[in-house]
Amino acid sequence: MLAECLIPTTAPQTTLARVVEFFVEAQERFGAARAFGIGSFGPIDLDPGSPTYGRLLRTPKPGWAGADVRQALIERFERPVAIDTDVNAAALAEAEHGAGRGLRSLAYVTVGTGIGGGVIHDGRTRYGSTHPEMGHIVVRRDPRDGGFAGVCPFHGDCLEGLASGPAIQARWGAPLDSLAARSDALDIIGGYLAQLVVSIALLTACERIVIGGGVMTDGALLPRIREAASRFISGYLPVARGDPTLEGYLVPPALGERSGIIGAALLAQRMR
Ligand code: ZN
Repeated sequence: MLAECLIPTTAPQTTLARVVEFFVEAQERFGAARAFGIGSFGPIDLDPGSPTYGRLLRTPKPGWAGADVRQALIERFERPVAIDTDVNAAALAEAEHGAGRGLRSLAYVTVGTGIGGGVIHDGRTRYGSTHPEMGHIVVRRDPRDGGFAGVCPFHGDCLEGLASGPAIQARWGAPLDSLAARSDALDIIGGYLAQLVVSIALLTACERIVIGGGVMTDGALLPRIREAASRFISGYLPVARGDPTLEGYLVPPALGERSGIIGAALLAQRMR
């Protein structure tokens, strides 16, 4: 890693102009870039044959719907620009250089302001008509959580609506680690996230699941997710037989907060 900087996500023109500035300066110091890689928040059009390729789709982030994330870099530098979602980029990095080394398949889940996930198989991210949107799955309600409508602007009480950072804040007025009824809250959120883990395991049969993001920095949450997921799987999947507590199956990112940016670099490397 030669240089890095953190630019806040404001309006697309402002943010993307600062990205270009960063690379102008970086190129002065380190020489010309041969390709660029972007791991973007979504939802984003990832079909190279589509007229809106590389543009953000319906997003609640003000001003970003329809924004072309690649264009500013293409115009300024005239180099190939690869793009994928931030979670797919992170999944790729963890698969190649992190928690998935030596495996053929891996899923990466992030739990923060939203919930998202990507699956890598044989070095490739998986697509259909678009990237997966696994944060919005339907989950079974915890009986202790009856009065909360959920915060997803599209679905209300989908997984993201019930268990993302903003959902925790809206329901209890504080993050998990500062709650008086912390144990119950950890159980409720852990139980919801376990349903995603179990769904990924059942639907993709991937060999390992990495789970990271801002909400997961509360170290007490991962053990609760493992417990709930293990209870549900109940020895049914081969992966759980040799690892009943799921300590080897459900793991934090080996690359820490850098999985996304390393994944973006890998996307660029593949363009060269
Ligand atoms: Zn939703």
